[in-house]
Amino acid sequence: MSQAVIAIHGGAGTITRAAMDAQREREYTAALEQVLLAGQRVLADGGSALDAVTEAVRLLEECPLFNAGRGAVLTHAGTYELDASVMDGATLNAGAVACVKRLRNPVLAARAVLEHSEHVLFAAEGAEAFAQAQGLELVAPEYFFTQARHDQWLRARETAGMALLDHDAATLAAQAAKPADPLDADKKFGTVGAVACDARGNVAAATSTGGVTNKQVGRVGDTPVLGAGCYADDVAAVSCTGTGEMFIRTSAAFDVSAQMRYAGLSLEESARRVVMEKLPAIQGRGGLIAVDRAGNVTLPFNTEGMYRGVARVGEPVNVWIYG
Ligand code: ASP
Repeated sequence: MSQAVIAIHGGAGTITRAAMDAQREREYTAALEQVLLAGQRVLADGGSALDAVTEAVRLLEECPLFNAGRGAVLTHAGTYELDASVMDGATLNAGAVACVKRLRNPVLAARAVLEHSEHVLFAAEGAEAFAQAQGLELVAPEYFFTQARHDQWLRARETAGMALLDHDAATLAAQAAKPADPLDADKKFGTVGAVACDARGNVAAATSTGGVTNKQVGRVGDTPVLGAGCYADDVAAVSCTGTGEMFIRTSAAFDVSAQMRYAGLSLEESARRVVMEKLPAIQGRGGLIAVDRAGNVTLPFNTEGMYRGVARVGEPVNVWIYG
């Protein structure tokens, strides 16, 4: 029996103490702690790693602070297009949805694909129809609206004219609001994710996102691409956040497990090479969380901060924001 553990992230980016006021920091910390406690409870009750990561990501989707589900960022056209995935290391079963506009909890749709479909990845209307047939909740686009993301989107369109990571867009806003303090950058990627190892030593991963602010309509990032933004096998489970295109090009999540399997690296060293060497080599920014079958956890990122936390069953939860 392993000591069960869950780790979560709420995105990486230029998250600095200076750009974060005490109230906001408390809100993020409290939200991460609540989610960790819920995931820890699933594992303590004997639940599987797959159940724990699904529940943790569902709760993160419900929280408007993070760029997934309610609180998702906007496309260039001002619409919401969400991606999510889930993978079970014990069986290599996986499910994902891409470019969904009306699903309240994309991660539950990904889980339904994993459980009830011969396919792995559904996109757009087909994904919504499948989820609806599975009894999942559909919502109007207004459900995903938050003023903060809307303002970010307006600024991204005006200032950058290009797609921005959620927290990078927030940085621009912070800089504009505090021009005298240009180092107050709050760049971050607000994707959410969870990895867990249950008492049986099985691992699982789940990831969910609204993508990058001001992205082109139809753009799909790494989040629903198994092996890129999410992966789990009998070695490790990994969930990523960052510039999705680079995570796809490096097969970032799969590579963590592959280097352990083929090169005999530790979880920590394998994840470090992906985040600190391979991604930066192609200007990839972000981070990942990973757990192996022994319950080791690593949370590397190459940005200033990453919302993250770990909870081992029977121990207090730990949450961090900065580097
Ligand atoms: N990786 C996500 C994407 O490219 C963005 C993020 O992590 O915030 O869609």
